[in-house]
Amino acid sequence: MYYGFDVGGTKIEFGAFNEKLERLAAERVPTPTEDYELLLDTLAGLVTKYDEKFGVKGKIGLGIPGIVSAEDDTVLTVNVPSANGKLLRADLEARVERDVKIENDANCFALSEAWDEGLQNESAVMGLILGTGFGGGLIYEGKVFSGGNHVAGEFGHTRLPIDAWFHLGEKAPLLGCGCGKKGCLDSYLSGRGFELLYEHYYSERKAAIDIIRSYGEGEENASEHVERFMELLAICLANIFTANDPDVVALGGGLSNFELIYDEMPKRVPKYLMSVAKCPKIIKALHGDAGGVRGAAFLNIK
Ligand SMILES: [Zn+2]
Repeated sequence: MYYGFDVGGTKIEFGAFNEKLERLAAERVPTPTEDYELLLDTLAGLVTKYDEKFGVKGKIGLGIPGIVSAEDDTVLTVNVPSANGKLLRADLEARVERDVKIENDANCFALSEAWDEGLQNESAVMGLILGTGFGGGLIYEGKVFSGGNHVAGEFGHTRLPIDAWFHLGEKAPLLGCGCGKKGCLDSYLSGRGFELLYEHYYSERKAAIDIIRSYGEGEENASEHVERFMELLAICLANIFTANDPDVVALGGGLSNFELIYDEMPKRVPKYLMSVAKCPKIIKALHGDAGGVRGAAFLNIK
């Protein structure tokens, strides 16, 4: 039995999966964001409950909105303050008397997609989230590749490629990022970036969903904005694909519901790739909101 926890800033989502990767249990509880002991009690309590229910000692994986320091194993997260700076893995392992695996939630999202029935034979699966931020994860041969510093897949904190800068033209905005740098992809390709760029070029604040609606109605600014954004996305994705060469790319997050992306990327990406490379298959994520908990559970598969 595989237990997955998707620990978010407001709720903890739990799932139990059998060897066939079928979900047998689901539970959602509020995240104790201020009290670390309560957080540990909550996680350990769910483990005990489902161990008893299924008569097993389930394997445990945790997805967190942050990273585990490669240096000292402490958790770095702003969304779950109770766990920030804590040795979450070791402390939880002591309570539940077994190994615990912890990964960044974007990596869990990617892992969940890679273990979809239809993608299990692909050697390199990339998950990309176009949501509040832009980030992702890389799965090679069914396993998360998290890198020496655990920052592999943090595409959102690489900077705009030079051809993207030229594409944005004279009025290109140099946007600041939460990481302290300027020009991070996170500020341009996320749903938030989609809105920031619109505001920059048209001096009007508009929600992504409204911009997309206006685009559908043929409104001039929205059409120009979407055209500019699609090319920008293609340029940036092409750079990411050149460095990582995935077979399949699954998109998640709010902006991944913009169907035009799936028509436009295969047409636009190739011209920014090396001539020997083809554009990978780009699909909408198959597991949506369940991705985090599935991926966390599947950390223990291999
Ligand atoms: Zn950044």
